[in-house]
Amino acid sequence: EAKNQGRNTCIVYEQAMRQSELDKQALLVELTEAIKSGQLTVFYQPIIDNFTGKVAKLEALVRWQHPKRGFISPMVFVPLAEEVGLIQQLGQQVLRQACLQVKQLHHLGYEHLEVCINRSTLEFQNVDLQASEWIKVIQESGLPASSVTLEITESLLMNSDSQHMQRITALKAVGINIAIDDFGTGYSSLNYLRSLPADVVKIDRSFIADIPCNQQDNLLFNGIINIVHNLGMKVVVEGVETELQQNYIQQQGCDFSQGFLLSKPLSFDMLKDFLAVQFRQYSVGLM
Ligand code: C2E
Ligand code: MG
Ligand code: MG
Ligand code: MG
Repeated sequence: EAKNQGRNTCIVYEQAMRQSELDKQALLVELTEAIKSGQLTVFYQPIIDNFTGKVAKLEALVRWQHPKRGFISPMVFVPLAEEVGLIQQLGQQVLRQACLQVKQLHHLGYEHLEVCINRSTLEFQNVDLQASEWIKVIQESGLPASSVTLEITESLLMNSDSQHMQRITALKAVGINIAIDDFGTGYSSLNYLRSLPADVVKIDRSFIADIPCNQQDNLLFNGIINIVHNLGMKVVVEGVETELQQNYIQQQGCDFSQGFLLSKPLSFDMLKDFLAVQFRQYSVGLM
């Protein structure tokens, strides 16, 4: 009886595996098509400067609105794109669209806005992809390189071979900024803080989940802020969801905040409305 049950469980499991394998295959075909036909779009999450209270940066976040399956998370399709060698194409599309749209915002008068773009570890590791290809896309868009930040995750830096370093140096040489994303979630974080010429550190939201209620977390958080500032870098805190968190973060002198409290990621049209409202507020405030 028990043996039978075990066998049945096993069959169910195998079927589930096969089903998900089929799903994955189907999704792959569709993703290829979506990338080729430009179905992916970019949403933007505002990042606020805690000293001025104004939106200073936008994080570009890729979106896939599937015609039948609906919205699919980048946490699902970005790894898939990596697996099948489509990540470079995806990355270039996001970079191009984001730079062109933020260039439009500059034309509308929001010249101070910077755009932060996620780069996959795999893209970075690909030896065929030259830094010059990213630089070219940025330059073609007309957006100043100094308005662009590339976000890379810690895991990339773990094997900090000289190739990565050369690439980062080439990007920085033309004025592109580098941010370390999801800081604190990987290994040996402190070690490469020392060796990496980054401009910004984005503290992962898991670090602030219990702030300011957990004294231990507060201390750790404050320590990280101090280290990053002492190394001459700026801090963005990710995943700010409550007023309590935001007040604390502000008190600690954190440069920038990003999270649902301020705004969820927005479509380009929604973003323009959001900025218009903010701008009106400020001009009223100035009078
Ligand atoms: P990430 O770079 O750490 O981006 C921040 C993620 O946190 C976004 O999820 C954002 O919607 C979410 N988030 C922002 N504020 C809050 C908050 O207050 N609470 C919570 N719970 N979440 C918040 P999203 O857009 O689903 O993206 C997930 C991840 O997918 C990104 O994490 C990034 O690693 C990756 N990704 C997104 N777009 C791209 C892209 O164009 N290229 C590459 N290579 N990866 C991308
Ligand atoms: Mg990011
Ligand atoms: Mg992040
Ligand atoms: Mg994160």
